[in-house]
Amino acid sequence: MADRFFPNDMPRFGAETTLEDQTPLADSLTTLISLPYPTLYSKFQAAAFHLKQSVVRETWGKRVKDYTLYTGALGTAYLVFKAYQVTKDGNDLNLCSEIVKACDSASANSGRVTFICGRAGVCAIGAVIAKHTGDERLLDYYLRQFKEIVIPHDSPYELLYGRAGYLWACSFLNKHIGEHTIPTIHMRSVVDEVITAGRQLAGNGRCPLMYEWHAKKYWGAAHGLAGIMHVLMDMELKPDEVEDVKGTLRYMIKNRFPSGNYPSSEGSESDRLVHWCHGAPGVTLTLLKAAEVFGDRDFLEAAVDAGEVVWKRGLLKRVGICHGVSGNTYVFLSLYRLTGNEEYLYRAKAFACFLLDRAQKLISEGKMHGGDRPYSLFEGLGGMAYTCLDMIDPQMAKFPAYEL
Ligand SMILES: [Zn+2]
Repeated sequence: MADRFFPNDMPRFGAETTLEDQTPLADSLTTLISLPYPTLYSKFQAAAFHLKQSVVRETWGKRVKDYTLYTGALGTAYLVFKAYQVTKDGNDLNLCSEIVKACDSASANSGRVTFICGRAGVCAIGAVIAKHTGDERLLDYYLRQFKEIVIPHDSPYELLYGRAGYLWACSFLNKHIGEHTIPTIHMRSVVDEVITAGRQLAGNGRCPLMYEWHAKKYWGAAHGLAGIMHVLMDMELKPDEVEDVKGTLRYMIKNRFPSGNYPSSEGSESDRLVHWCHGAPGVTLTLLKAAEVFGDRDFLEAAVDAGEVVWKRGLLKRVGICHGVSGNTYVFLSLYRLTGNEEYLYRAKAFACFLLDRAQKLISEGKMHGGDRPYSLFEGLGGMAYTCLDMIDPQMAKFPAYEL
């Protein structure tokens, strides 16, 4: 695996054909991409359900070692919940509930506070599932548990382990349980900490906000600026804070690589990673959010540029959501949702069809990395299953645990 990505030789845009119009000699990927939507989406649905069953079989035992959404049991619960939203099958909902209960026990003494890698994810998803099952007592329980989470003093600020990841869980609850489930005043105190720390580290530099994680000033969605700005844009910000968020994003756009990709950290000259966690894909989603929230044209233009990088270099030799083809598919889904441009729907389909047609074969041949946790949501086939479920209704697709 010398290169990090497969060369993308798929056409930049292609129209759907009818089944009768298909070229008999076209390769299986080309045939798949040009299928009429209903036929293609039923293929995504079938693949998703099949993969989901494998994920449940491989990851769900009664004892939970890794409870997180990122690589552990909560990721399986989140995938099964997504499947439930498509099928409305009560068995899926009951299974989610059971998995989250096991995650609740496993995370009871965890010091991690975020949605993706911590206890906030367990309590927040537990509450939402309890709402769906109509179990008021359980809903109360998970909300109480959520409110008991204490952010350690030395918590970082990024999304996977830090304050931003805790705030995202608050927004998730307010969206899915009801406005003010977590009061603004509670979130405000955390936002204050995030803004104050960002301004302090930025000092009098050219970027208004800056953060460190493990002694590096990261830019990406998982540990850096893109993720923190993404979360801040869902908060009620004061006018000067809005200006700092905009200024930080403009600084990133101005200092991106000549290729259009984004450095993984401040000062890095290595233009290698095109992942959600590090590089253009995560930044694209943040810029699209900025375009939506602030209505500024330059953010949309920068997002379109970053999307081009993902099209050229985003067909990664990995399958998952965090740093794989599944995650990169969401860049085009998000561009499509915001612009309505069919070209982006085509590109999302192209990436997702690549997974459908080739991923499992490439993984079995050792040409694609199946993830250190091969069935997990963020690194493995769980992510591919989630993406296939989102392809059933692409207009509504949202990057899991990131786009609200
Ligand atoms: Zn990653």
